[in-house]
Amino acid sequence: MDIDVNTQLCAVIGNPVRHSLSPLIHNTAFRVLGLNYVYLAFEVEDLEACLKGMRALGGFRGLSVTIPHKENIIKYLDELDSVTQKIKSANTVINENGKLIGTNTDGEGTIRAFERAGVKLEGKNILFLGAGGAVRAVAFAFADKVSPQKITILGRTPERLQKLISDLRLNFPYTVINYGFLSKDYKTLVESHDIIIQGTPIGMEGHSEDVLNFPFECLNSNHAVLDMVYRPLETELIKEARKRGAVTIVGTEMLIEQAGIQFELWTGYKPPLNEMRKALEIALSKSNTQS
Ligand code: NAP
Repeated sequence: MDIDVNTQLCAVIGNPVRHSLSPLIHNTAFRVLGLNYVYLAFEVEDLEACLKGMRALGGFRGLSVTIPHKENIIKYLDELDSVTQKIKSANTVINENGKLIGTNTDGEGTIRAFERAGVKLEGKNILFLGAGGAVRAVAFAFADKVSPQKITILGRTPERLQKLISDLRLNFPYTVINYGFLSKDYKTLVESHDIIIQGTPIGMEGHSEDVLNFPFECLNSNHAVLDMVYRPLETELIKEARKRGAVTIVGTEMLIEQAGIQFELWTGYKPPLNEMRKALEIALSKSNTQS
């Protein structure tokens, strides 16, 4: 990659950010298509100053936004699409000549991951485990775009869960939205839902003290299961679901699809998803062998 006076800059901002795989994914895509872009990672504390700088720099085209800035960034942006306005959290910024446009690609990325796996979401009963930022983005996108029959969200902290449920019900009064708690037995819920989306960090490397208590025996070939966790590449939930004939979608598929949407927004080109996926899987399998 030759960097010159025309090189466009994209970056991920967060704190911490050194673990991010986004530079690898996006730089791979720029290289494959021969685009004059480069993608860096910036640890940011002062978000307002960061965005002022971005606005002022002509060649600064786009941002990925990660923890802890996804919610705070909203107030510094000039425009948001309608779902992002409802979610109140953005993971992507596009700089259109100094105008900063925010969007959230996690929801659409997840929809695309299901489409790629051949799973229809329309009219389905969808069960989310977790009530954090990622589940919020995906649940809003599902309610907005795929007409599910029912959405059920299982959380841990009552206030956070109830806030999410009341925001969803307020914005989508015609969608059936239920909730429950991860600490309770949720066998019958697994049986009565078609799509299961695991959105807690349980199962992630470094979280071995936390257990999901998932009733694996209730899974069958009518289920489709997505685990947002992608370190390790295949979680216990994914392995158990596959054993029982369910369609399984690993967390890297969501990550790649949402990155692909960002890539297209910044460059106008279709993302080379296969090469992006391959680079990500090689990096993750290397880090697996090292740990
Ligand atoms: P978050 O905002 O911190 O939310 C995490 C959720 O999990 C919260 O509801 C939290 O409950 C719950 N939780 C955490 N530990 C738990 C435990 N031991 N038992 C029960 N519930 C627990 O995080 P996030 O941004 O939504 O991310 C969630 C996961 O998805 C992370 O592993 C992240 O890496 C992954 N993710 C993947 C992608 C992808 O592209 N594949 C994208 C985004 C996120 P409380 O509310 O009680 O804290």
